[in-house]
Amino acid sequence: DEAALRQGQKMEAVGQLTGGMAHDFNNILQIVQANLDLIKEDMVGNEVTLSRLQSASAAAERGARLTQQLLAFSRRQPLAPRPTNVGRLVHDLSGLLRHALGERITLEVAVPAEAWNATIDPGQLENAILNLAINARDAMPEGGTVRVEVSNATLDRRYASLHSEVSPGSYVLIDVIDTGTGMPAEVVARAFDPFFTTKQEGKGTGLGLSMVYGFVRQSNGHIRIDSAIGQGTSVKLYLPRTLDPVVDAASEATSPAGGTA
Ligand code: ADP
Repeated sequence: DEAALRQGQKMEAVGQLTGGMAHDFNNILQIVQANLDLIKEDMVGNEVTLSRLQSASAAAERGARLTQQLLAFSRRQPLAPRPTNVGRLVHDLSGLLRHALGERITLEVAVPAEAWNATIDPGQLENAILNLAINARDAMPEGGTVRVEVSNATLDRRYASLHSEVSPGSYVLIDVIDTGTGMPAEVVARAFDPFFTTKQEGKGTGLGLSMVYGFVRQSNGHIRIDSAIGQGTSVKLYLPRTLDPVVDAASEATSPAGGTA
């Protein structure tokens, strides 16, 4: 599929370009940050200078966040996929989501009682959902509702014939729905492009959705955006469903009696 290929090439190029630079930048920012902290200690009692230092610290921190995102993007950590109960993962993430969304936003989490598993890297799925929630928050400056829904979905032959990367079958669907600004068609069309952002200088990196896209594609999944201006956005992640059981990490780590590592 032409578009998917182009997307892959773009991500490859960005990854190579930024890997080394982001690393050096991160080190530089650490030094800036450490010195600002020292100066703050020297300036105790000097409110004007302290507030200026605070602004400088905040800027350095934004820079550090950006470079960390660039690093994560370029490092392309190899995925460590394993059968994962997606509903449980979302349920366990809800505390963190609530925290990230802040007080003006209502969080609803709808998770099935059934255990639907997908073979994915759980840490990367958490990152992906967090990224989507933060985009949802940013689209609702006056507050609103974010709903994260996990369900079972079938993508049929007809759907697959319209989306060349999709194989027909059973998927676990994670739908992140907001009541925010919505996205014009031209924003939806470019949303997965690395560095595409409509956010204010310093607020967005344009890497969130391209990272989510990379994760979903590497997991043989499918992602789509449905959005209506003034009503909100739904970002759907379809991850191929597996019947393989979840391996309990705790029992895996404990070696059997007499066993040696
Ligand atoms: P960033 O969040 O850093 O801008 P992303 O790749 O995550 O980068 O998103 C790209 C753009 O897509 C955003 O700048 C925004 O315009 C749009 N977008 C993403 N999610 C939403 C959403 N839930 N509602 C409205 N617009 C969105």
